Amino acid sequence: MMQSIQNEYRQRLGRLRRRLGESGASALVVTHSPNIFYLSGFLGSAGILAVEADRTTLLTDGRYMTQSREQARGTGIRVQIPQAPILRAAGEFLAAGKGRSRRVAAFDPDHLTVAAKGELARAAGRAVSWVAAHGWVEELRIIKSPAELAKIRAAARLISEVCGQVIQMIRPGVTEIDLAAEADYRMRKLGAEGPSFETIVASGWRAALPHARPTTKRLRRNEFVVLDLGAILAGYCSDMTRTVYVGSASKRLKGWYRAVLEAQQAARDAVAVGATTGRPDAAARAVLDGYGLGGYFIHSTGHGLGLEVHEAPRLAKGQKGQFEPRMVVTIEPGIYVEGVGGIRIEDDVAVYEGKTETLTTTPREFLEI
Ligand code: ZN
Ligand code: ZN
Repeated sequence: MMQSIQNEYRQRLGRLRRRLGESGASALVVTHSPNIFYLSGFLGSAGILAVEADRTTLLTDGRYMTQSREQARGTGIRVQIPQAPILRAAGEFLAAGKGRSRRVAAFDPDHLTVAAKGELARAAGRAVSWVAAHGWVEELRIIKSPAELAKIRAAARLISEVCGQVIQMIRPGVTEIDLAAEADYRMRKLGAEGPSFETIVASGWRAALPHARPTTKRLRRNEFVVLDLGAILAGYCSDMTRTVYVGSASKRLKGWYRAVLEAQQAARDAVAVGATTGRPDAAARAVLDGYGLGGYFIHSTGHGLGLEVHEAPRLAKGQKGQFEPRMVVTIEPGIYVEGVGGIRIEDDVAVYEGKTETLTTTPREFLEI
């Protein structure tokens, strides 16, 4: 039986508390909303979660009174709706905390602006000193629970379906924006909350730009089209890319596509529990180098995927972390040739003991339309 989500929040907070205890800090201030959601289920845009050894408190504002109380039910998290602005209230809350006279608050500098940190510290006053806690929650988020894996799998299935439908609509004369709009519309129709990033449709020479925004450019014969799509479903992201050819490709371009496909397969095969997170990148680069195309592969091979579309781990050159069961990563090598176009193939891969599961299911074979 799947455990209740409230139990998951309790477990996540428990793991975070162990880390807090080891660090010697008396409280961790969580300000990044995906992290707050991960720990408490709270989905508002304004909130601060204070995690202490014996209690967890969500500070939010009046707009979220009902929502926050509902979402916190059964988690043991106390909700406070302060009158003061939230940063000031959080600072005062930390200063008033029980226990030791001098309190140490841990915060993540990646998620707090200098101005916000200043406001917190001013309100807390001299009773509180501050220590940096980089990525504590993100490190927990790397390993997905079975329930999270099921949600990411569903988001991946959804985007695979959308990708298949949008590929059907590719023909000369259609604009990039038309295709992007169709993709976004279909995500919603299939139940997604929305795209997990701004949909990328890039054709012809524009496909040589890895992060091209869709334009009014019309698709023409004899060019590549790159579709990079992701959806958010039940809070979790998917992210996939397919590249198709409009017209009939030359032998040379077909060869390029085969090389990228082979590199992507090699990178997916290199994902395994115990292997370093740099290994898929090395595998993809070795294949592309073998075809003399390594110089056109100008980004890293992938990234973690979950509540955010880009999260830990990074699958880049030389990364020394190790794959562990229940990580989810993207595998997305590509080549970008200025003036000609680009090819990228991206799938979402879940890691298990002794095996992997490719969650995105749209075919990868070279497709001429
Ligand atoms: Zn992507
Ligand atoms: Zn990606």
